[in-house]
Amino acid sequence: MSSDYEDVCSICHRTESVAGKMLKMGDAMCICMDCLQKSTDMLNQSPYKEMLGMDPSQLAGMFPGMGMTPEMTENMQISQDQKSDKQVSSDNPDEPDSDKENKKDEHKQSGPKGTFFLNLNDLMGTNFNPRTKIKKRNPDEKKEPIIKLKDIPAPHKLKAKLDEYVIGQEEAKKILSVAVYNHYKRVATDTMDEIEIEKSNILMLGPTGCGKTYLVQTLAKLLDVPLAIADATALTEAGYIGDDIESVVSKLLAAADNDVDRAECGIIFVDEIDKLAKKPNSNHRDVSGESVQQGMLKLLEGAEIEVPIGATSKNAMVPMTTVNTRNILFICGGAFPDLEEIIKSRLSKQAGIGFNSELKDKYDKDKTLLHKVTTEDIKKYGMIPEFVGRLPIICPLDSLDEDALVAILKEPKNAILKQYQKLLELDEVKLIFDDSALRAIAKKAKEKDTGARALRAIIEEFMLDIMYEIPKDDNIGTVTITGDYIEGKGGPIVEIRS
Ligand code: ADP
Repeated sequence: MSSDYEDVCSICHRTESVAGKMLKMGDAMCICMDCLQKSTDMLNQSPYKEMLGMDPSQLAGMFPGMGMTPEMTENMQISQDQKSDKQVSSDNPDEPDSDKENKKDEHKQSGPKGTFFLNLNDLMGTNFNPRTKIKKRNPDEKKEPIIKLKDIPAPHKLKAKLDEYVIGQEEAKKILSVAVYNHYKRVATDTMDEIEIEKSNILMLGPTGCGKTYLVQTLAKLLDVPLAIADATALTEAGYIGDDIESVVSKLLAAADNDVDRAECGIIFVDEIDKLAKKPNSNHRDVSGESVQQGMLKLLEGAEIEVPIGATSKNAMVPMTTVNTRNILFICGGAFPDLEEIIKSRLSKQAGIGFNSELKDKYDKDKTLLHKVTTEDIKKYGMIPEFVGRLPIICPLDSLDEDALVAILKEPKNAILKQYQKLLELDEVKLIFDDSALRAIAKKAKEKDTGARALRAIIEEFMLDIMYEIPKDDNIGTVTITGDYIEGKGGPIVEIRS
């Protein structure tokens, strides 16, 4: 694996293929020969020369394979203190040789204050640390597309696969399947010269726990592309405390094992995007809201971004690489809590005028209100027009009702119930949830108003005792969880093995 990766100079950030052979300093640092030469030249200037206590011209030939003998590096020290210490010991001819040796060792281990030693082993370290390495790219070679046209599943197949994992959200699954199919068709054919197919980033709207992140995760898994999930609330304008906006691309690069080509056709999901909405009547500079929207514009559109490798912020010691975001699919998701009010007021205003005017409360109970959203509503919510313009596909999700929650408990491929059944199966115990139990769990979850997220917490609570008690008794064959048990009116039905 290590031969597929190349080092990046910690000073000039060029890769091994560009800058040539590198000097390795431990796992994390590499220096190219040019930078090493520049450093030696600098040390040759008189103030450093004095500090170093040796002729810096020796440094250039210091390292094995680059001319340096081990003896020369052994006592390398960059400190006046150390120099004077040495003088003291050599001035004292009475001191036995072994003592001198010990002293030298002592210095080697801890070193006097202000002294810095170069450890030869660190310099020669060849440990492979993929976190700060980047996968080799060969610009001359005709690039094989990472995603081939024939490998992209057609929208109906993609939706059928999604159906196996995600319950409900029919419209969202359809919109996503088509959008993702078109996006990867564009990536695979790379038709930039002929008819340019525009990039189709997606904006997902829906209450918390309705499956936004889950849908994107499932899609990335089905398509086998790298996925980075970022939280918009952690992002701030460059230079302020918080993650830089480009850090989302670094995350994707890490998810793609530092393979730039793979990262360039990945998916970035930015959650909680609604938290970036413009704050009304604010005179302050909004470094974590509107400015982040501004900063994301060039990422969404497609640009060459300098990203740190193995870190979320740029600094002098972190190697960098360039990632083009043109083929990265951006999906932004948010709950947009008061958006329904905005849609409602727009619709009521339209409907309330003229002869055909309708009742004002007509939309109060409309569950599909979010599906009537327009870009105008999102702008009114506080997203800047340039940002909304770069997310042309709007994908609304429904809040999950009781029936959907029951289905989520038992139907998906890795449904929570199936997971518990599997766990108990290992103890040779059959676990049954009767319908009334499923209803009761769904009802409790609905009350919590956190969508499907509440289901696991509720089941964990009720399963704790069962998971604790059952392994105690080898005779138990079947456990049935009833609605009464969930509602606290009784216990589970335990049947002994016959
Ligand atoms: P959010 O919409 O807030 O991003 P998530 O996608 O993180 O919510 O959902 C939380 C969990 O709930 C997921 O890990 C998944 O297991 C479950 N879940 C949510 N919605 C669905 C759904 N429609 N079908 C199946 N599981 C779901």
